[in-house]
Amino acid sequence: MNGTGTGTGTDSTTHPVIVVGSGPTGLLLAGDLAGAGVPVTLVEKRPHRISNLSRAFGVHARTLEQLDARGLADDLLATGDTITGLRLFRRLSLDLGTLESRFPFLLITPQYEVERLLERRAREAGVEFRYESEVVGLRQDDAGVDLDVRGPDGVTATLRADYVVGTDGHRSAVRQAIGVDFPGVAVIKSLFLADVRLAEKPEGVLTVNGADDAFAMIASFGDGWYRVMGWNRRHEVPDDAPLDLAEIKEVTRRALGTDHGMHDARWLSRFHSDERQAPRYRVGRVFLAGDAAHVHSPAGGQGMNTGLQDAANLGWKLAAAVQGRAPEGLLDTYEAERHPVGKAVLRSSGGLVRLARAQNPAVRLLRGLVSAFVNVARPVQRKALGQVSGIGYRYPAPRGAHRLTGTRVPDVALAGGRLYEALRGGRFVLITPKVTPEAYDDQGTRKDRLTVARWASDRRTTVLVRPDGYVAWAADAATPERIEAALTAHLGG
Ligand SMILES: Cc1cc2nc3c(=O)[nH]c(=O)nc-3n(C[C@H](O)[C@H](O)[C@H](O)COP(=O)(O)OP(=O)(O)OC[C@H]3O[C@@H](n4cnc5c(N)ncnc54)[C@H](O)[C@@H]3O)c2cc1C
Repeated sequence: MNGTGTGTGTDSTTHPVIVVGSGPTGLLLAGDLAGAGVPVTLVEKRPHRISNLSRAFGVHARTLEQLDARGLADDLLATGDTITGLRLFRRLSLDLGTLESRFPFLLITPQYEVERLLERRAREAGVEFRYESEVVGLRQDDAGVDLDVRGPDGVTATLRADYVVGTDGHRSAVRQAIGVDFPGVAVIKSLFLADVRLAEKPEGVLTVNGADDAFAMIASFGDGWYRVMGWNRRHEVPDDAPLDLAEIKEVTRRALGTDHGMHDARWLSRFHSDERQAPRYRVGRVFLAGDAAHVHSPAGGQGMNTGLQDAANLGWKLAAAVQGRAPEGLLDTYEAERHPVGKAVLRSSGGLVRLARAQNPAVRLLRGLVSAFVNVARPVQRKALGQVSGIGYRYPAPRGAHRLTGTRVPDVALAGGRLYEALRGGRFVLITPKVTPEAYDDQGTRKDRLTVARWASDRRTTVLVRPDGYVAWAADAATPERIEAALTAHLGG
Protein backbone atom coordinates (compact mmCIF):
# COMPACT_ATOMS: atom_id res chain seq x y z
CA MET A 1 0.00 0.00 0.00
CA ASN A 2 2.97 2.29 0.53
CA GLY A 3 2.68 5.13 -1.94
CA THR A 4 -0.62 3.98 -3.41
CA GLY A 5 -3.01 6.17 -1.44
CA THR A 6 -5.38 8.23 -3.54
CA GLY A 7 -6.04 11.27 -1.40
CA THR A 8 -8.74 13.45 -2.85
CA GLY A 9 -8.66 16.03 -0.10
CA THR A 10 -6.21 17.32 2.46
CA ASP A 11 -6.58 18.50 5.97
CA SER A 12 -4.35 21.54 6.34
CA THR A 13 -3.51 20.94 10.04
CA THR A 14 -0.60 18.79 11.06
CA HIS A 15 -1.76 16.36 13.72
CA PRO A 16 0.89 15.76 16.39
CA VAL A 17 -0.15 12.10 16.72
CA ILE A 18 -2.68 9.97 14.85
CA VAL A 19 -3.51 6.62 16.42
CA VAL A 20 -5.07 4.10 14.00
CA GLY A 21 -7.51 1.64 15.59
CA SER A 22 -9.65 2.00 18.70
CA GLY A 23 -9.15 -1.43 20.26
CA PRO A 24 -7.81 -1.56 23.83
CA THR A 25 -4.23 -0.71 22.75
CA GLY A 26 -5.20 2.39 20.77
CA LEU A 27 -7.61 3.60 23.45
CA LEU A 28 -5.04 3.40 26.27
CA LEU A 29 -2.35 5.06 24.15
CA ALA A 30 -4.58 7.87 22.93
CA GLY A 31 -5.79 8.53 26.49
CA ASP A 32 -2.21 8.68 27.81
CA LEU A 33 -1.11 11.09 25.09
CA ALA A 34 -4.10 13.37 25.52
CA GLY A 35 -3.68 13.22 29.30
CA ALA A 36 -0.10 14.46 28.80
CA GLY A 37 -1.43 17.41 26.80
CA VAL A 38 -0.73 16.07 23.30
CA PRO A 39 -3.56 16.59 20.79
CA VAL A 40 -4.49 13.11 19.49
CA THR A 41 -6.73 11.96 16.66
CA LEU A 42 -7.96 8.36 16.80
CA VAL A 43 -9.17 6.95 13.48
CA GLU A 44 -11.29 3.80 13.52
CA LYS A 45 -12.83 2.05 10.55
CA ARG A 46 -15.86 0.72 12.43
CA PRO A 47 -18.85 2.83 13.36
CA HIS A 48 -18.90 3.81 17.02
CA ARG A 49 -20.10 0.83 18.98
CA ILE A 50 -18.48 -1.15 21.71
CA SER A 51 -19.33 -4.71 20.86
CA ASN A 52 -20.46 -7.10 23.54
CA LEU A 53 -18.94 -9.90 21.45
CA SER A 54 -15.79 -9.90 23.45
CA ARG A 55 -12.54 -11.68 22.69
CA ALA A 56 -10.29 -11.31 25.73
CA PHE A 57 -11.72 -12.03 29.14
CA GLY A 58 -8.70 -12.16 31.43
CA VAL A 59 -6.97 -9.10 32.87
CA HIS A 60 -3.66 -9.85 34.56
CA ALA A 61 -1.92 -8.22 37.54
CA ARG A 62 0.45 -5.97 35.58
CA THR A 63 -2.41 -4.62 33.47
CA LEU A 64 -4.42 -3.91 36.63
CA GLU A 65 -1.39 -2.08 38.02
CA GLN A 66 -1.23 0.06 34.86
CA LEU A 67 -4.96 0.76 35.15
CA ASP A 68 -4.45 1.62 38.84
CA ALA A 69 -1.83 4.18 37.74
CA ARG A 70 -4.65 5.78 35.74
CA GLY A 71 -7.29 5.55 38.47
CA LEU A 72 -9.27 2.87 36.58
CA ALA A 73 -8.52 -0.42 38.34
CA ASP A 74 -11.27 -0.24 40.96
CA ASP A 75 -13.92 0.50 38.32
CA LEU A 76 -12.78 -2.47 36.26
CA LEU A 77 -12.63 -4.80 39.27
CA ALA A 78 -16.30 -4.04 39.89
CA THR A 79 -17.19 -5.53 36.48
CA GLY A 80 -15.96 -9.09 37.03
CA ASP A 81 -14.80 -11.91 39.29
CA THR A 82 -11.27 -12.76 40.33
CA ILE A 83 -9.47 -16.10 40.49
CA THR A 84 -6.23 -16.94 42.23
CA GLY A 85 -5.55 -20.42 40.85
CA LEU A 86 -4.80 -20.79 37.16
CA ARG A 87 -4.83 -24.32 35.82
CA LEU A 88 -3.18 -24.29 32.43
CA PHE A 89 -3.82 -27.93 31.68
CA ARG A 90 -4.81 -30.92 33.67
CA ARG A 91 -1.90 -30.94 36.14
CA LEU A 92 -0.10 -27.66 35.70
CA SER A 93 -1.37 -25.02 38.07
CA LEU A 94 -0.18 -21.55 39.00
CA ASP A 95 -1.03 -19.94 42.31
CA LEU A 96 -1.62 -16.29 41.47
CA GLY A 97 -2.37 -15.63 45.14
CA THR A 98 1.38 -15.53 45.79
CA LEU A 99 2.00 -12.67 43.34
CA GLU A 100 3.77 -9.70 44.90
CA SER A 101 1.23 -7.23 43.60
CA ARG A 102 -1.76 -5.30 44.88
CA PHE A 103 -3.69 -7.53 42.45
CA PRO A 104 -2.68 -11.13 43.22
CA PHE A 105 -5.26 -12.68 40.89
CA LEU A 106 -6.65 -12.82 37.37
CA LEU A 107 -9.72 -10.67 36.76
CA ILE A 108 -12.31 -12.33 34.54
CA THR A 109 -14.18 -9.61 32.72
CA PRO A 110 -15.06 -9.13 29.06
CA GLN A 111 -12.77 -7.07 26.83
CA TYR A 112 -15.62 -4.64 26.15
CA GLU A 113 -15.57 -3.55 29.80
CA VAL A 114 -11.88 -2.65 29.45
CA GLU A 115 -12.63 -0.78 26.22
CA ARG A 116 -15.57 1.05 27.75
CA LEU A 117 -13.43 2.41 30.59
CA LEU A 118 -10.52 3.33 28.35
CA GLU A 119 -12.79 5.03 25.85
CA ARG A 120 -14.45 7.12 28.57
CA ARG A 121 -11.05 8.20 29.86
CA ALA A 122 -9.79 9.05 26.34
CA ARG A 123 -12.90 11.15 25.66
CA GLU A 124 -12.54 12.99 28.95
CA ALA A 125 -8.88 13.70 28.13
CA GLY A 126 -9.94 15.29 24.83
CA VAL A 127 -9.06 12.66 22.19
CA GLU A 128 -10.70 13.41 18.83
CA PHE A 129 -12.46 10.25 17.61
CA ARG A 130 -13.08 9.73 13.90
CA TYR A 131 -15.23 6.66 13.27
CA GLU A 132 -15.98 5.02 9.91
CA SER A 133 -12.56 6.25 8.88
CA GLU A 134 -10.30 3.62 7.36
CA VAL A 135 -6.62 4.07 6.72
CA VAL A 136 -5.96 3.04 3.13
CA GLY A 137 -2.51 4.49 2.46
CA LEU A 138 0.53 5.93 4.20
CA ARG A 139 3.74 7.67 3.13
CA GLN A 140 6.38 9.27 5.29
CA ASP A 141 9.29 11.65 4.89
CA ASP A 142 11.79 13.07 7.38
CA ALA A 143 9.33 15.71 8.59
CA GLY A 144 6.08 13.79 8.93
CA VAL A 145 3.60 11.18 7.76
CA ASP A 146 0.78 11.43 5.20
CA LEU A 147 -2.12 9.16 6.01
CA ASP A 148 -4.87 8.45 3.49
CA VAL A 149 -8.14 7.98 5.33
CA ARG A 150 -11.40 6.97 3.67
CA GLY A 151 -14.21 8.66 5.58
CA PRO A 152 -17.89 7.78 6.12
CA ASP A 153 -18.81 9.49 2.83
CA GLY A 154 -16.39 7.25 0.90
CA VAL A 155 -14.06 10.15 0.16
CA THR A 156 -10.37 9.66 0.89
CA ALA A 157 -8.59 12.57 2.57
CA THR A 158 -4.91 12.87 3.38
CA LEU A 159 -4.05 13.74 6.97
CA ARG A 160 -0.59 14.95 7.90
CA ALA A 161 0.88 13.86 11.22
CA ASP A 162 4.14 14.20 13.11
CA TYR A 163 3.77 10.61 14.31
CA VAL A 164 1.42 7.70 13.55
CA VAL A 165 0.85 4.63 15.69
CA GLY A 166 -0.73 1.53 14.14
CA THR A 167 -2.88 -0.14 16.77
CA ASP A 168 -5.05 -1.54 14.01
CA GLY A 169 -4.99 -5.22 14.92
CA HIS A 170 -3.44 -8.31 13.40
CA ARG A 171 -4.21 -7.40 9.79
CA SER A 172 -2.69 -3.94 10.36
CA ALA A 173 -2.89 -1.72 7.27
CA VAL A 174 -0.27 0.52 8.89
CA ARG A 175 2.18 -2.37 9.25
CA GLN A 176 1.71 -3.33 5.61
CA ALA A 177 2.10 0.27 4.47
CA ILE A 178 5.49 0.62 6.15
CA GLY A 179 6.62 -2.67 4.62
CA VAL A 180 7.07 -4.60 7.86
CA ASP A 181 6.51 -8.37 7.60
CA PHE A 182 4.49 -10.46 10.03
CA PRO A 183 6.23 -13.82 9.98
CA GLY A 184 4.93 -16.78 11.98
CA VAL A 185 2.79 -19.89 11.94
CA ALA A 186 -0.71 -21.07 12.82
CA VAL A 187 -0.67 -22.67 16.30
CA ILE A 188 -4.26 -23.84 16.58
CA LYS A 189 -6.03 -24.42 13.30
CA SER A 190 -9.55 -24.56 14.63
CA LEU A 191 -11.02 -23.22 17.87
CA PHE A 192 -14.56 -22.35 18.81
CA LEU A 193 -15.89 -19.63 21.05
CA ALA A 194 -19.36 -18.97 22.44
CA ASP A 195 -21.09 -16.91 25.11
CA VAL A 196 -23.80 -19.04 26.73
CA ARG A 197 -26.05 -19.46 29.75
CA LEU A 198 -25.60 -22.54 31.92
CA ALA A 199 -28.27 -24.55 33.72
CA GLU A 200 -25.70 -25.94 36.19
CA LYS A 201 -23.17 -23.50 37.60
CA PRO A 202 -19.55 -24.74 37.52
CA GLU A 203 -17.73 -24.71 40.86
CA GLY A 204 -15.16 -22.01 40.09
CA VAL A 205 -14.93 -18.88 37.99
CA LEU A 206 -12.72 -20.74 35.50
CA THR A 207 -13.02 -24.41 34.57
CA VAL A 208 -10.56 -25.90 32.16
CA ASN A 209 -9.52 -29.36 31.04
CA GLY A 210 -8.20 -31.32 28.10
CA ALA A 211 -8.90 -34.97 27.41
CA ASP A 212 -6.83 -36.43 24.59
CA ASP A 213 -8.39 -34.87 21.53
CA ALA A 214 -10.79 -32.38 23.13
CA PHE A 215 -10.15 -29.25 25.17
CA ALA A 216 -12.64 -26.89 26.78
CA MET A 217 -12.62 -23.90 29.06
CA ILE A 218 -15.57 -22.16 30.71
CA ALA A 219 -15.16 -18.73 32.32
CA SER A 220 -17.84 -16.85 34.23
CA PHE A 221 -18.30 -13.18 33.39
CA GLY A 222 -20.15 -12.81 36.68
CA ASP A 223 -23.35 -11.48 35.05
CA GLY A 224 -24.94 -14.84 34.21
CA TRP A 225 -23.07 -15.20 30.90
CA TYR A 226 -20.27 -17.70 30.45
CA ARG A 227 -17.51 -17.79 27.83
CA VAL A 228 -16.81 -21.25 26.39
CA MET A 229 -13.72 -21.85 24.32
CA GLY A 230 -12.36 -25.14 23.02
CA TRP A 231 -11.00 -27.26 20.28
CA ASN A 232 -11.69 -30.65 18.82
CA ARG A 233 -8.83 -32.49 17.21
CA ARG A 234 -11.26 -34.79 15.43
CA HIS A 235 -12.83 -31.85 13.59
CA GLU A 236 -10.39 -29.18 12.46
CA VAL A 237 -12.17 -26.96 9.94
CA PRO A 238 -11.86 -23.48 8.39
CA ASP A 239 -13.14 -20.46 10.37
CA ASP A 240 -16.22 -20.12 8.16
CA ALA A 241 -17.43 -23.74 8.58
CA PRO A 242 -20.90 -23.90 10.20
CA LEU A 243 -20.95 -24.18 14.00
CA ASP A 244 -23.84 -24.97 16.31
CA LEU A 245 -24.31 -25.30 20.04
CA ALA A 246 -24.66 -29.10 19.76
CA GLU A 247 -21.04 -29.38 18.56
CA ILE A 248 -19.80 -27.15 21.39
CA LYS A 249 -21.74 -29.19 23.95
CA GLU A 250 -20.37 -32.46 22.64
CA VAL A 251 -16.72 -31.30 22.78
CA THR A 252 -17.25 -29.75 26.23
CA ARG A 253 -18.69 -33.03 27.53
CA ARG A 254 -15.66 -34.92 26.25
CA ALA A 255 -13.23 -32.44 27.83
CA LEU A 256 -15.01 -31.62 31.12
CA GLY A 257 -17.32 -34.60 31.59
CA THR A 258 -20.40 -32.32 31.46
CA ASP A 259 -21.70 -29.46 29.32
CA HIS A 260 -23.29 -27.80 32.39
CA GLY A 261 -26.65 -27.62 30.59
CA MET A 262 -25.43 -25.02 28.11
CA HIS A 263 -28.16 -23.06 26.33
CA ASP A 264 -29.08 -19.75 24.69
CA ALA A 265 -25.79 -18.91 22.96
CA ARG A 266 -25.81 -15.15 22.26
CA TRP A 267 -22.82 -15.55 20.01
CA LEU A 268 -20.72 -18.40 18.61
CA SER A 269 -17.83 -18.40 16.24
CA ARG A 270 -14.83 -20.31 14.98
CA PHE A 271 -11.39 -18.88 14.76
CA HIS A 272 -7.81 -20.00 14.38
CA SER A 273 -4.83 -18.86 16.32
CA ASP A 274 -1.58 -17.61 14.79
CA GLU A 275 1.75 -16.90 16.37
CA ARG A 276 3.37 -13.95 14.59
CA GLN A 277 5.59 -11.01 15.44
CA ALA A 278 6.67 -7.97 13.45
CA PRO A 279 10.50 -7.84 13.37
CA ARG A 280 10.35 -4.06 13.83
CA TYR A 281 7.98 -1.99 15.96
CA ARG A 282 9.11 1.33 14.49
CA VAL A 283 9.95 2.64 11.06
CA GLY A 284 10.81 6.34 11.13
CA ARG A 285 7.82 8.21 12.51
CA VAL A 286 5.48 5.23 12.49
CA PHE A 287 5.10 2.78 15.39
CA LEU A 288 3.25 -0.51 15.80
CA ALA A 289 1.63 -1.71 19.03
CA GLY A 290 -0.71 -4.45 20.24
CA ASP A 291 -1.96 -7.10 17.81
CA ALA A 292 -0.53 -5.06 14.93
CA ALA A 293 2.92 -5.97 16.31
CA HIS A 294 2.34 -9.47 17.74
CA VAL A 295 -0.32 -12.16 17.96
CA HIS A 296 -0.21 -15.36 19.96
CA SER A 297 -2.37 -18.25 21.05
CA PRO A 298 -5.08 -17.43 23.61
CA ALA A 299 -3.33 -19.73 26.15
CA GLY A 300 -2.48 -17.73 29.24
CA GLY A 301 -4.68 -14.83 28.03
CA GLN A 302 -1.80 -12.58 27.03
CA GLY A 303 -2.86 -10.71 23.86
CA MET A 304 -4.80 -7.73 25.14
CA ASN A 305 -2.60 -7.52 28.23
CA THR A 306 0.60 -7.34 26.16
CA GLY A 307 -0.91 -4.69 23.87
CA LEU A 308 -1.88 -2.54 26.84
CA GLN A 309 1.68 -2.78 28.17
CA ASP A 310 3.01 -1.70 24.74
CA ALA A 311 0.75 1.34 24.90
CA ALA A 312 1.83 2.19 28.46
CA ASN A 313 5.47 1.99 27.36
CA LEU A 314 5.07 4.15 24.26
CA GLY A 315 2.67 6.86 25.45
CA TRP A 316 4.94 8.90 27.73
CA LYS A 317 7.89 8.56 25.34
CA LEU A 318 5.91 9.84 22.38
CA ALA A 319 4.48 12.68 24.47
CA ALA A 320 8.03 13.71 25.42
CA ALA A 321 9.10 13.61 21.74
CA VAL A 322 6.10 15.68 20.57
CA GLN A 323 6.74 18.24 23.32
CA GLY A 324 10.41 18.48 22.33
CA ARG A 325 11.81 17.15 25.61
CA ALA A 326 12.71 13.54 24.77
CA PRO A 327 16.33 12.67 25.47
CA GLU A 328 18.27 11.38 22.47
CA GLY A 329 17.30 7.79 21.66
CA LEU A 330 14.21 7.65 23.93
CA LEU A 331 11.86 6.68 21.11
CA ASP A 332 14.18 3.83 20.09
CA THR A 333 13.79 2.28 23.53
CA TYR A 334 10.16 1.41 22.71
CA GLU A 335 11.14 -1.36 20.29
CA ALA A 336 14.24 -2.29 22.34
CA GLU A 337 12.06 -2.85 25.43
CA ARG A 338 8.82 -4.21 23.99
CA HIS A 339 10.03 -6.48 21.17
CA PRO A 340 11.81 -8.91 23.56
CA VAL A 341 8.68 -9.04 25.76
CA GLY A 342 6.51 -9.83 22.71
CA LYS A 343 8.93 -12.57 21.76
CA ALA A 344 8.85 -14.07 25.26
CA VAL A 345 5.03 -14.02 25.26
CA LEU A 346 4.96 -15.80 21.89
CA ARG A 347 7.34 -18.42 23.20
CA SER A 348 5.50 -19.09 26.46
CA SER A 349 1.94 -19.09 25.12
CA GLY A 350 2.92 -21.20 22.10
CA GLY A 351 4.81 -23.64 24.33
CA LEU A 352 1.76 -24.11 26.53
CA VAL A 353 -0.45 -24.91 23.56
CA ARG A 354 2.04 -27.37 22.11
CA LEU A 355 2.32 -29.15 25.43
CA ALA A 356 -1.45 -29.15 25.93
CA ARG A 357 -2.13 -30.56 22.44
CA ALA A 358 0.66 -33.08 22.47
CA GLN A 359 -0.29 -36.47 20.98
CA ASN A 360 3.15 -37.97 20.94
CA PRO A 361 3.60 -40.18 24.08
CA ALA A 362 7.10 -38.81 24.72
CA VAL A 363 5.84 -35.20 24.69
CA ARG A 364 2.91 -36.19 26.91
CA LEU A 365 5.32 -37.72 29.36
CA LEU A 366 7.32 -34.49 29.20
CA ARG A 367 4.11 -32.54 29.86
CA GLY A 368 3.52 -34.53 33.03
CA LEU A 369 7.09 -33.95 34.15
CA VAL A 370 7.01 -30.22 33.33
CA SER A 371 3.72 -29.84 35.22
CA ALA A 372 5.01 -31.66 38.26
CA PHE A 373 8.26 -29.72 38.18
CA VAL A 374 6.60 -26.30 37.83
CA ASN A 375 4.17 -27.18 40.60
CA VAL A 376 6.90 -28.00 43.10
CA ALA A 377 9.94 -25.93 42.02
CA ARG A 378 9.35 -22.49 43.54
CA PRO A 379 11.77 -20.48 41.36
CA VAL A 380 10.24 -22.01 38.23
CA GLN A 381 6.69 -21.40 39.49
CA ARG A 382 7.72 -17.81 40.30
CA LYS A 383 9.14 -17.26 36.83
CA ALA A 384 6.03 -18.71 35.19
CA LEU A 385 3.83 -16.51 37.40
CA GLY A 386 5.89 -13.43 36.53
CA GLN A 387 5.47 -14.12 32.82
CA VAL A 388 1.77 -14.97 32.87
CA SER A 389 0.83 -12.02 35.09
CA GLY A 390 3.24 -9.63 33.34
CA ILE A 391 4.87 -8.49 36.60
CA GLY A 392 8.05 -10.47 35.98
CA TYR A 393 9.33 -8.58 32.96
CA ARG A 394 12.13 -6.08 33.25
CA TYR A 395 13.67 -3.84 30.65
CA PRO A 396 17.35 -3.75 29.64
CA ALA A 397 19.53 -1.43 31.72
CA PRO A 398 22.62 0.43 30.54
CA ARG A 399 26.00 -1.01 31.54
CA GLY A 400 27.00 0.01 35.06
CA ALA A 401 23.45 1.05 36.03
CA HIS A 402 22.04 0.36 39.52
CA ARG A 403 20.61 -3.17 39.82
CA LEU A 404 17.05 -1.81 40.05
CA THR A 405 17.23 0.03 36.73
CA GLY A 406 14.65 -1.34 34.27
CA THR A 407 12.72 -3.29 36.92
CA ARG A 408 9.01 -2.90 37.58
CA VAL A 409 8.32 -1.00 40.78
CA PRO A 410 5.60 -2.60 42.93
CA ASP A 411 2.98 -0.46 44.64
CA VAL A 412 5.32 0.68 47.42
CA ALA A 413 4.17 2.71 50.41
CA LEU A 414 5.13 6.38 50.29
CA ALA A 415 4.83 8.95 53.06
CA GLY A 416 1.19 10.01 52.67
CA GLY A 417 0.17 7.53 49.98
CA ARG A 418 1.29 4.81 47.61
CA LEU A 419 3.23 4.79 44.35
CA TYR A 420 0.44 3.93 41.90
CA GLU A 421 -1.62 6.84 43.21
CA ALA A 422 1.39 9.12 42.80
CA LEU A 423 1.75 7.91 39.19
CA ARG A 424 -1.78 9.07 38.32
CA GLY A 425 -0.52 12.43 37.10
CA GLY A 426 1.32 10.68 34.24
CA ARG A 427 4.58 12.09 35.61
CA PHE A 428 7.90 10.61 36.73
CA VAL A 429 8.03 10.01 40.49
CA LEU A 430 11.26 10.62 42.39
CA ILE A 431 11.24 8.62 45.63
CA THR A 432 13.71 10.02 48.13
CA PRO A 433 14.70 9.01 51.67
CA LYS A 434 12.38 10.17 54.47
CA VAL A 435 14.93 12.71 55.70
CA THR A 436 15.12 14.69 52.45
CA PRO A 437 14.51 18.41 53.20
CA GLU A 438 11.17 19.80 52.05
CA ALA A 439 12.84 22.48 49.97
CA TYR A 440 13.78 19.68 47.62
CA ASP A 441 10.17 19.27 46.51
CA ASP A 442 10.28 22.48 44.53
CA GLN A 443 11.45 21.27 41.15
CA GLY A 444 10.67 24.58 39.42
CA THR A 445 10.24 24.13 35.68
CA ARG A 446 10.09 20.36 36.02
CA LYS A 447 7.04 20.30 38.27
CA ASP A 448 4.65 19.45 35.41
CA ARG A 449 6.74 16.32 34.67
CA LEU A 450 7.87 15.23 38.12
CA THR A 451 6.34 14.35 41.47
CA VAL A 452 8.71 14.19 44.44
CA ALA A 453 7.77 11.67 47.13
CA ARG A 454 9.39 10.07 50.16
CA TRP A 455 9.62 6.47 51.29
CA ALA A 456 7.25 5.60 54.11
CA SER A 457 10.03 3.33 55.43
CA ASP A 458 13.64 4.13 56.34
CA ARG A 459 14.86 3.03 52.93
CA ARG A 460 17.88 5.03 51.72
CA THR A 461 17.80 4.27 48.00
CA THR A 462 16.70 7.15 45.79
CA VAL A 463 14.62 5.89 42.87
CA LEU A 464 13.37 7.72 39.79
CA VAL A 465 10.25 5.92 38.55
CA ARG A 466 9.13 6.36 34.94
CA PRO A 467 5.49 7.22 34.23
CA ASP A 468 4.92 3.54 33.28
CA GLY A 469 6.13 2.29 36.66
CA TYR A 470 9.65 1.05 35.78
CA VAL A 471 12.88 2.29 37.34
CA ALA A 472 14.60 4.90 35.17
CA TRP A 473 17.47 5.47 37.59
CA ALA A 474 18.41 4.60 41.17
CA ALA A 475 21.26 5.22 43.62
CA ASP A 476 21.91 3.92 47.13
CA ALA A 477 23.48 7.04 48.60
CA ALA A 478 22.65 9.75 46.11
CA THR A 479 24.13 13.22 46.39
CA PRO A 480 22.02 16.20 45.23
CA GLU A 481 24.41 16.54 42.27
CA ARG A 482 23.85 12.95 41.14
CA ILE A 483 20.09 13.32 41.47
CA GLU A 484 20.17 16.54 39.48
CA ALA A 485 22.23 14.88 36.74
CA ALA A 486 19.76 11.96 36.57
CA LEU A 487 16.76 14.30 36.38
CA THR A 488 18.40 16.32 33.61
CA ALA A 489 19.21 13.14 31.67
CA HIS A 490 15.68 11.74 31.91
CA LEU A 491 13.46 14.81 32.05
CA GLY A 492 15.54 17.66 30.71
CA GLY A 493 16.13 20.93 32.57
C1 LIG B 1 -10.75 -16.07 21.55
C2 LIG B 1 -9.83 -15.06 22.01
C3 LIG B 1 -9.60 -14.97 23.35
C4 LIG B 1 -8.71 -14.03 23.80
N1 LIG B 1 -8.50 -13.97 25.13
C5 LIG B 1 -7.62 -13.07 25.61
C6 LIG B 1 -7.43 -12.94 27.03
O1 LIG B 1 -8.03 -13.62 27.86
N2 LIG B 1 -6.54 -12.02 27.44
C7 LIG B 1 -5.87 -11.23 26.56
O2 LIG B 1 -5.05 -10.41 27.02
N3 LIG B 1 -6.07 -11.29 25.23
C8 LIG B 1 -6.93 -12.20 24.72
N4 LIG B 1 -7.16 -12.25 23.38
C9 LIG B 1 -6.48 -11.32 22.45
C10 LIG B 1 -7.11 -9.93 22.44
O3 LIG B 1 -8.46 -9.97 22.10
C11 LIG B 1 -6.35 -9.03 21.45
O4 LIG B 1 -4.97 -9.18 21.72
C12 LIG B 1 -6.73 -7.55 21.59
O5 LIG B 1 -8.03 -7.29 21.13
C13 LIG B 1 -5.77 -6.69 20.77
O6 LIG B 1 -6.09 -5.35 20.95
P1 LIG B 1 -5.61 -4.28 19.90
O7 LIG B 1 -6.15 -2.97 20.38
O8 LIG B 1 -4.14 -4.39 19.70
O9 LIG B 1 -6.28 -4.69 18.51
P2 LIG B 1 -7.83 -4.90 18.16
O10 LIG B 1 -8.63 -5.16 19.37
O11 LIG B 1 -7.86 -5.89 17.06
O12 LIG B 1 -8.28 -3.46 17.59
C14 LIG B 1 -7.87 -3.00 16.33
C15 LIG B 1 -8.83 -1.91 15.88
O13 LIG B 1 -8.33 -1.33 14.67
C16 LIG B 1 -9.41 -1.13 13.76
N5 LIG B 1 -8.84 -1.11 12.40
C17 LIG B 1 -8.32 -2.15 11.71
N6 LIG B 1 -7.86 -1.76 10.52
C18 LIG B 1 -8.09 -0.42 10.44
C19 LIG B 1 -7.83 0.56 9.43
N7 LIG B 1 -7.23 0.26 8.27
N8 LIG B 1 -8.19 1.84 9.66
C20 LIG B 1 -8.79 2.19 10.85
N9 LIG B 1 -9.07 1.28 11.83
C21 LIG B 1 -8.71 0.00 11.63
C22 LIG B 1 -10.32 -2.30 14.03
O14 LIG B 1 -11.65 -2.05 13.60
C23 LIG B 1 -10.22 -2.45 15.55
O15 LIG B 1 -11.19 -1.67 16.22
C24 LIG B 1 -8.05 -13.17 22.88
C25 LIG B 1 -8.31 -13.25 21.52
C26 LIG B 1 -9.18 -14.20 21.09
C27 LIG B 1 -9.45 -14.29 19.62
